[in-house]
Amino acid sequence: MSLIACLLVFLAAYLLNLLVISVGYHRALAHKAVRLHPVLQRMLVAGGSWITGIDAKSWVVMHRLHHEHSDTPLDPHSPVNVGILGIGAEQLRSYKRVVIGLLKRDPAYTKYTKGLDFDVHVLTRRGRWWLPYVVHGVVGLGLALWGGWMLGVAYFVGMMSHPIQGGLVNSLGHALGGRNFDTRDNSRNNHLAAWLILGEGFQNNHHAYPGSASFSHRAHEVDLGYWACVTLERLGLCSIDRAHLIPRAGGASAPRPAPEVTLPGSHPAAAPR
Ligand SMILES: [Zn+2]
Ligand SMILES: [Zn+2]
Repeated sequence: MSLIACLLVFLAAYLLNLLVISVGYHRALAHKAVRLHPVLQRMLVAGGSWITGIDAKSWVVMHRLHHEHSDTPLDPHSPVNVGILGIGAEQLRSYKRVVIGLLKRDPAYTKYTKGLDFDVHVLTRRGRWWLPYVVHGVVGLGLALWGGWMLGVAYFVGMMSHPIQGGLVNSLGHALGGRNFDTRDNSRNNHLAAWLILGEGFQNNHHAYPGSASFSHRAHEVDLGYWACVTLERLGLCSIDRAHLIPRAGGASAPRPAPEVTLPGSHPAAAPR
């Protein structure tokens, strides 16, 4: 198979993962910044685990813990605590802790499930969390036998890229880059992470306006994830909560940051710098 075909397969798998996590798990389920069409939401909750290998409810709870305790010792993944290189292992440990907490119905974790009217995925409940990895491995092997090893690797690496995607956002987005808002955390706007991970690198903008479907405040901050939301909306597959959108820099009437409605004990409003 040609190099271009392998690249296209990698990009398709990589983008599918990003759309599930960034638009589905993050902007829609965790923050309710986007309301998905009910059919699409059911597909996301049922199929998200199969695509990414990550349980939607556990991801959302871990992410809400991150917003609640950002860059404090209780943050499930902060480079302030473990350094940029320690994030990969830290997010894995935290995810496992959240899964166990939810399965045990521990109130320390279930209190972050507000607005999530679905259970932990059956794969995770029954200890079969590894099955999607095996399925993607088998598909990758089949593609390798059919079209060459590079095609199989492109598919598997693209489909299983979420730990790297998450690691880049969680490390670079809280360590390197400028700040538009004086939030209480160490969040940054990292353009490299934003380009690679559909706008998710603009963590400072996002922590200031967690209820905004867009993570872009300035004109040069390109949030491809928001473009995906707008496209889905035009297709009738979601609606964007425009009341809580982050204001554009230099805009005439900048609204107050949206409260973190889905979280207990939200941070005080962040002030523009
Ligand atoms: Zn963050
Ligand atoms: Zn968030």
